[in-house]
Amino acid sequence: MIRLVCLGTSASTPTSRHVPSHFAVKFGGVFLLDCAEGCQRQMMKFGVPYGSLSGVFLTHLHADHVLGLPGVIQTLNLADRKAVLPIFGPAGTRDFVETLLDLPSLRAKFPVTVTEMPHTQTASCLKTTLFEVRSFPVQHSSKAVGYVMEEAEKTKFHEDQAKSKGIQGRLFTQIQEMGELTVKGKKIRLEDVTFKQAGKKLAFTGDTQACRSTQENAENADVLVHDCTFLEEHKDLADQTKHATALSAATLAKKAHVKKLILTHLGNRYANRNVLLDEAQRVFPATELAQEGKEWLI
Ligand SMILES: [Zn+2]
Ligand SMILES: [Zn+2]
Repeated sequence: MIRLVCLGTSASTPTSRHVPSHFAVKFGGVFLLDCAEGCQRQMMKFGVPYGSLSGVFLTHLHADHVLGLPGVIQTLNLADRKAVLPIFGPAGTRDFVETLLDLPSLRAKFPVTVTEMPHTQTASCLKTTLFEVRSFPVQHSSKAVGYVMEEAEKTKFHEDQAKSKGIQGRLFTQIQEMGELTVKGKKIRLEDVTFKQAGKKLAFTGDTQACRSTQENAENADVLVHDCTFLEEHKDLADQTKHATALSAATLAKKAHVKKLILTHLGNRYANRNVLLDEAQRVFPATELAQEGKEWLI
């Protein structure tokens, strides 16, 4: 099960009540989706163990998405981290990280690797036995990507069918390990008594307009986290700064057949954030607003 935790929700700057938008995922390790100012404190506050940090996925290099990185790295230094920290991001991420870590007071005492993802096509970032993370292009005012985390396909038993063929107790484990078994003189293949079930899927954007690439890559996702910096009445500003409106994010979620839409990077001009939620829910009712500390089990 993928545990998604919201660490920050605001657009562009912190406010007295909110931290800039970024999230953590706990699934076979701890992963950050952007690393905004205040990140390490938010991790501590909301029970995301920073010592288990296994990777950082940066959507782009605008300051509101990356300013938490030096603080996280310094705290990991103090915690005597030895394990490698992989960082993924669009073109420019290597230069950014190397420049940062080149400052004498910001050096990492553990290895940090940087993988730059293409901002023009979909690409695989990381694949384990549990999941795969892919990056995809988005439309923003700088080179930017979104990410999809998809759980590996699962093998499930047709229980009645398996039992009718004599598979019981530890034979379930045995046939999974061996691929086939002979029961009462009859050979049974694993695929005769099982079916494949798609894993859970999380799609995440940092800053972007609602675009076809996100729609295609978020297709059928259990959760889509999307930029929502403006209301449709400020669409001219959204177009100028390459951000999404609530209406455009909701329309995309509907077209992509996602199960849930979480709106984040919520414009600070809207004192009452529910105006963004209301606009989106008129098109896509399964919409929620991101909120610091809120968790979703996917
Ligand atoms: Zn931003
Ligand atoms: Zn940006």
